[in-house]
Amino acid sequence: MAQDQASVDQEAEKLRQQLNQWGREYYVLDQPTVEDAVYDQTYRKLQKLEQKHPELITADSPTQRVGGQILTGFTKVNHDNPMLSLGDVFSKDELRAFIERLDRNVEQTVAFNCELKIDGLAISLTYENGVFVKGSTRGNGTVGEDITQNLKTIKAIPLRLTEPVSVEVRGECYMPKESFVNLNKYREEQGLPVFANPRNAAAGSLRQLDSKVTAARNLSTFIYYLMEPEKFDVTTQSAALEKMRQWGFKTNTDSRLATNMEQVDQYIDDYQAKRTELAYEIDGIVLKADPFSVQADLGNTVKVPRWAIAYKFPPDEQETVVRDIEWTV
Ligand code: NAD
Repeated sequence: MAQDQASVDQEAEKLRQQLNQWGREYYVLDQPTVEDAVYDQTYRKLQKLEQKHPELITADSPTQRVGGQILTGFTKVNHDNPMLSLGDVFSKDELRAFIERLDRNVEQTVAFNCELKIDGLAISLTYENGVFVKGSTRGNGTVGEDITQNLKTIKAIPLRLTEPVSVEVRGECYMPKESFVNLNKYREEQGLPVFANPRNAAAGSLRQLDSKVTAARNLSTFIYYLMEPEKFDVTTQSAALEKMRQWGFKTNTDSRLATNMEQVDQYIDDYQAKRTELAYEIDGIVLKADPFSVQADLGNTVKVPRWAIAYKFPPDEQETVVRDIEWTV
């Protein structure tokens, strides 16, 4: 029997409220109360309901906006080019369908740069004549927070590049597993609430009004986006990573080019197996169309690029659900 309109309305409202609450705990308080997989499933449920009943989409629906909110205490930064999220898939079948659709749309077999999906938070770094001048969080995608002073304490972020270029790059700030374990051990000893995962610990550590606290937290970065690559005669994502490495950024060297699903499949299997050995958390892999010309042809939706996708690993059974912890950072 078809659901009547009132009960569909009610269900959508319930899902929205639930997701918005979890989103606030996750993005604003850095203290999630449910596992990501639970959030993702609920998000998909709302997405499907909205697809079936587009009249239900409201401005406050979590499907309509990118990530976080802006905290008070930091100067706001406008992102001239929005900092988007990534579309995601949870099975290899969906991934294959994505690749096939993309190839069809651009009428060619596209090379993909396969990258690890680092479980941290997105940052933007601006350099003028090779000097680091501004760093910010993604925030809600169009407005982020100025965290320059805190980012300056991270040793992986070069304060001066090897060439006097003016450039914006973006990447992931993360807390290595070892630092996370040590931090939580310390917090437990001190009777402080522990962080649910390294991503939330990294987010909490970056949003400190006292940069000495950030400095003590041992954060690191992997840089993966070069903005306005045409200025530097760079035409592919893989070449952009190489260029940024030469300038002095820390990039992840575990990326690999793939031209078909079999190679992508292999990459996923390789890194799913190596996942526990890595010094940092990953929650999946990211596929990016390698040629910038293809990226430009496909463009972005308001929320995600059409030329990239995240494949999320199945949830880790050993993850524990952290509930009811107070928010103190
Ligand atoms: P996301 O983390 O799923 O993916 C997008 C992000 O991936 C980018 O913004 C970037 O920061 C990161 N990334 C890592 N490696 C990358 C690479 N190599 N190239 C490009 N980007 C890379 O999306 P999101 O919008 O940041 O967060 C949404 C996710 O957050 C949800 O899917 C859910 O799992 C989680 N979440 C959980 C809760 C909860 O309560 N547990 C609440 C809200 C959101």
